[in-house]
Amino acid sequence: MSRLKSKLPGSGTTIFTVMSQMALEHGAINLSQGFPDFDGPALLRERVSYHLEHGHNQYAPMPGLPELKNQIALKISALYGRDVDPIDEITVTPGATEAIFCAVSVVVQPGDEVIVFDPSYDTYAPSVILNGGVTRHIPMVYPDFRIDWGRVKDTINPRTRLIILNTPHNPSATIWRQEDIDALRELVTGTGIYLLSDEVYEHIVFDGQPHLSLLRFPELAERTFAVYSFGKTYHATGWRIGYCVAPRSLMAEFVRIHQFINFSTNTPMQYALADYMRDGSAHHLELGAFYQQKRDLFVQLMAESRFRLNKAAGTFFQLADYSEISDEADVEFAGRMTREHKVAVIPVSVFYEQPPKQRVIRFCFAKGDDTLRQAAERLVAL
Ligand code: GLN
Repeated sequence: MSRLKSKLPGSGTTIFTVMSQMALEHGAINLSQGFPDFDGPALLRERVSYHLEHGHNQYAPMPGLPELKNQIALKISALYGRDVDPIDEITVTPGATEAIFCAVSVVVQPGDEVIVFDPSYDTYAPSVILNGGVTRHIPMVYPDFRIDWGRVKDTINPRTRLIILNTPHNPSATIWRQEDIDALRELVTGTGIYLLSDEVYEHIVFDGQPHLSLLRFPELAERTFAVYSFGKTYHATGWRIGYCVAPRSLMAEFVRIHQFINFSTNTPMQYALADYMRDGSAHHLELGAFYQQKRDLFVQLMAESRFRLNKAAGTFFQLADYSEISDEADVEFAGRMTREHKVAVIPVSVFYEQPPKQRVIRFCFAKGDDTLRQAAERLVAL
């Protein structure tokens, strides 16, 4: 037998799995991998049980349940003012991760270049590499994490096929401003560059700021795959369900790939989400305030610590600079925090191709208030 040659030789196990496992081994409070430690709306869960018990246990339609896609289209129209055809411009996927992979597969041919902004979520680059593409990483730096648009302009060349962007941004917890949208529009207008907009934290934006979905801007939306997550919105990351929105011609190719990867997405959850959304729940509209309260609690509890925090603008993550506590590299520091201080966190350097000199870790504050208090108590003692 010939020796197996890895297609992802540069990738180990994802940091989320590594840290959650370490948290479990050491009995640490797990503020690493991003997931809530509470359940979503009871009514939504009740609808899942209902459909499990009422014969909705076989394959859903391949591109998604029409009832759910209708609800998604209504929501997009209400929130972002874009009329999307639920039949041809929306696909429900088993998690946003699959949607990201399919979207990359649609546009990236071997040798094509894809721009990603570091710190970048850890599925972007592997999705590009598995499709034979080449990633061009543009760093954003603590504490502002602003995009250097001059640098983006210098990086764009005839091989540039795709730009992957993410707002609200994981792990930096920053959000895009109108000037970012304007700069992007100027750079891509008149080019053949596509956009993949990871907007899974669309509802988790704080301090009265708007979420600048690319779907709001017709000149950008016409070249965009926008990706969303029910797991984030309904506190159900384990359900693995999200969706992609893209113009008809792009979605046709997306579906061609999706059908051969997962075929379809689980059925009872799709029925349940359709019911729940149809009944006019305001859950998603209240999510920002819900998480803002948790951010504020965590930031306030941490004020007595030697960590330095700039308040998150969105997502359920909070970054912290630990340079007053230690000069260890963040991977070591995160490991030691987990083993010795029993709070697991995510080191931020792993999301960079070339990690800058910064000592920053990421906390997930999607936890019960008591868990946050207990964690903060340990962190204040450092
Ligand atoms: N999105 C989650 C995070 O950033 C992790 C998802 C995963 O573990 N694959 O923490």
